[in-house]
Amino acid sequence: MARRDELMTYAEQLKDPRWLAVRDRIIMRDMNMCRDCHSGDNLHVHHKRYLKGLYAWEYSERDLITLCVKCHRFVHGLNEDGKDMNDPFVRLPEFRGDLVRLVARMNKR
Ligand SMILES: [Zn+2]
Ligand SMILES: [Zn+2]
Repeated sequence: MARRDELMTYAEQLKDPRWLAVRDRIIMRDMNMCRDCHSGDNLHVHHKRYLKGLYAWEYSERDLITLCVKCHRFVHGLNEDGKDMNDPFVRLPEFRGDLVRLVARMNKR
């Protein structure tokens, strides 16, 4: 039997209504603001950590944070002219180490 995380790609999960509902709830919790720079433009919900086998919407609210698209790209290690600009999730696994360090730094602010 296929493992659960092989049934749906991450990109597919992010289009799932169950994720969209969680995403809306987190943005509302964070008062429609980026938790890093307080911008209200282009908000994304970022997973502070990834656990094997969990769907995007199965995380605890503590693991989710609202970031604007700029801060989100930064957290994922993509710069302004990165070619994955429109999909900050695509290359995520390569940046996992940096991601954890950057988020740890961010949380200290
Ligand atoms: Zn921001
Ligand atoms: Zn993210």
